[in-house]
Amino acid sequence: MQVKSLTFNPFQENTSILYDETKECAIVDPGMLTVEEEELLVATIQELGLKPVKLLQTHLHLDHVFGTGFVADRYGLKPEAHEADLPFIAQHKEYARSFGVEVAANPPVPEVFLKDGDEVKFGNITLEVRHIPGHSPGGIVFYNERSGIVIAGDALFSGSVGRSDLPGGNHEQLISAIQEKLMTLPDEVVVYPGHGPLTTIGQERNSNPYL
Ligand SMILES: [Zn+2]
Ligand SMILES: [Zn+2]
Repeated sequence: MQVKSLTFNPFQENTSILYDETKECAIVDPGMLTVEEEELLVATIQELGLKPVKLLQTHLHLDHVFGTGFVADRYGLKPEAHEADLPFIAQHKEYARSFGVEVAANPPVPEVFLKDGDEVKFGNITLEVRHIPGHSPGGIVFYNERSGIVIAGDALFSGSVGRSDLPGGNHEQLISAIQEKLMTLPDEVVVYPGHGPLTTIGQERNSNPYL
């Protein structure tokens, strides 16, 4: 599995495009807020010759869903996410305004619900869904065992973990879920966080002060 990351919106959110030799791709956490950002996503997909077939979301915080409506419409895809984050959809516009960001509409409600242990398949890729609540109630990560890659959303960052002071957050729950669902992966697994640079499970095991 190959990963192409793009960083969008004032929150510097990482949007990931996952693909393989079949050229089918999944767009994870589309964070595009401006027309220019939307155009960059479309151009990147075109340049790589990809066909989007999945719209996946690690969680439904505003910075990860600004571009969900655009991707759903443009590529005719059903948004997929964990059900426990649904309340964020209705609060999106208001919540964005509290951060000084004006959006035209709330993002589309997920049409496919993912839960712990589910498998998402496209191309020759299988992603295992792992539920990691604590940053948000419905936080999930996508693990591709064959390539040793995990798309971690805002659960785990290089040298840090997700904040737990937002609605539905819980620090102890987050840490224990990271220990159980991420730190049990091999050291060499590459972590693509929702913000900031790449890391590995081994690097975080050895040096992350929160773990
Ligand atoms: Zn978040
Ligand atoms: Zn985020």
